[in-house]
Amino acid sequence: ALVVRHRMRSSGRWARAMEILKELEENCATPIGKLRQVADAMTVEMLAGLASEGGSKLKMLISYVDNLPKGDETGLFYALDLGGTNFRVLRVQLGGKGGRVVKQEFEEVSIPPNLMVGSSSELFDFIAAALAKFVASEGEEFHLPVGRQRELGFTFSFPVKQTSISSGTLIKWTKGFAINGTVGEDVVAELTKAIERQGLDMRVTALVNDTIGTLAGGRYYDNDVVAAVILGTGTNAAYVEHAQAIPKWHGLLPKSGKMVINMEWGNFRSSHLPITEYDQALDAESLNPGEQIFEKLISGMYLGEIVRRVLLKMAEEAALFGDSIPPKLEVQFILRTPDMSAMHHDTSSDLRVVGTKLKDILGISNTSLKTRKLVVKVCDIIAKRGARLAAAGILGVLKKQGRDTALRDGSDMQRTVIAMDGGLYEHYTIFSNCLETTLREMLGEEATASIVIKLASDGSGIGAALLAASHSQYLELEES
Ligand code: BGC
Ligand code: MG
Repeated sequence: ALVVRHRMRSSGRWARAMEILKELEENCATPIGKLRQVADAMTVEMLAGLASEGGSKLKMLISYVDNLPKGDETGLFYALDLGGTNFRVLRVQLGGKGGRVVKQEFEEVSIPPNLMVGSSSELFDFIAAALAKFVASEGEEFHLPVGRQRELGFTFSFPVKQTSISSGTLIKWTKGFAINGTVGEDVVAELTKAIERQGLDMRVTALVNDTIGTLAGGRYYDNDVVAAVILGTGTNAAYVEHAQAIPKWHGLLPKSGKMVINMEWGNFRSSHLPITEYDQALDAESLNPGEQIFEKLISGMYLGEIVRRVLLKMAEEAALFGDSIPPKLEVQFILRTPDMSAMHHDTSSDLRVVGTKLKDILGISNTSLKTRKLVVKVCDIIAKRGARLAAAGILGVLKKQGRDTALRDGSDMQRTVIAMDGGLYEHYTIFSNCLETTLREMLGEEATASIVIKLASDGSGIGAALLAASHSQYLELEES
């Protein structure tokens, strides 16, 4: 009788686990009809954000970039990229039309986690020190004309209200950053002070979001690049807009007639988004509750954490991992998206990778194949929801640009190229494949044929350097 009772109990547990899974699947569902609603809502919010300051959750930030690189930029320029888990410093010798990038070098430094939640000056001092060290290692192959100051493009991957191409105040931190005293400050002034404290002679001539840098870097190599998307720790998009289509812009109409817009789509929110109890709890317990809702469904910082929350519920209510709850499963952000991705891509028949990850990361050993399959299924639901929503976001941007149908230029098909960057897209193959399939499904074959997603890994660094070059303090001097 005892054995029988136990069996019944364990099958009851499994049934509960299945129930939780089914509920998850239903609540995360993204049928094409729903995705179209999300895409349309995105387009509507874009218009509202362009119409007036604060007109939408989508900030539609004016970048002050009204000209994208042409290929004739020359000279030595530096770039600094801050915004994810690492920051990078880069120098590039630009050779103009014929030479393009003559030489480039970069260094990547990981940001000590305590600095992401410390003080503003500590963070900027750390960055400036790494920059100074990097500048000191500049070799003779790089040429700076005598008497000139070194110039820097600063990629700062957070929402910034720009006041010019080379200044702007931080609106809020996102991702894992929460530093006191930076919001409302001019981040270029902060960086410049830290650079001076290092005794380094360098001027910031361009302040850009990573989406803007990626767009500029993409355009340098391909004239048909008209938008950029980041799918990494965070997510965002930028695109080229007609200056006349920006009612909230009261400045002079640029000669090009264009203005690049940093959408900050991570903060998009709509009643059409499939939000579950796990997302709600994640948001409530996050560093920025109520903010970056789209980002929290899609980006690399959060996908693994959502999966952890689902598994925890299964442990609590269905004893998925035995009678007690594995203590590590209760630790926030312990399951990182790269580990989720590794489990999701496990092709071994006994799901060996899943077993190892569960053991090494969560301290759960001896899982059955059935349990491992369930874990993979959870990863699949969460990753695909994110990928499909990202595809809907892209469709929204293409619609706003009037590029969601095949465009012809005479008999030639007009290409639309989206420059893409970010570790999530680059490394999580199931995610990126799903995004592309979904986009194709929504666009149809003909329009799909003219749209290209081009991976531009760390294209934002070179893009920032190019924008530093096209906004150099010495440019007018040269032109006159
Ligand atoms: C930030 C954006 C950034 C994106 C990708 C988001 O959290 O708000 O400014 O472009 O992450 O790095
Ligand atoms: Mg980046």
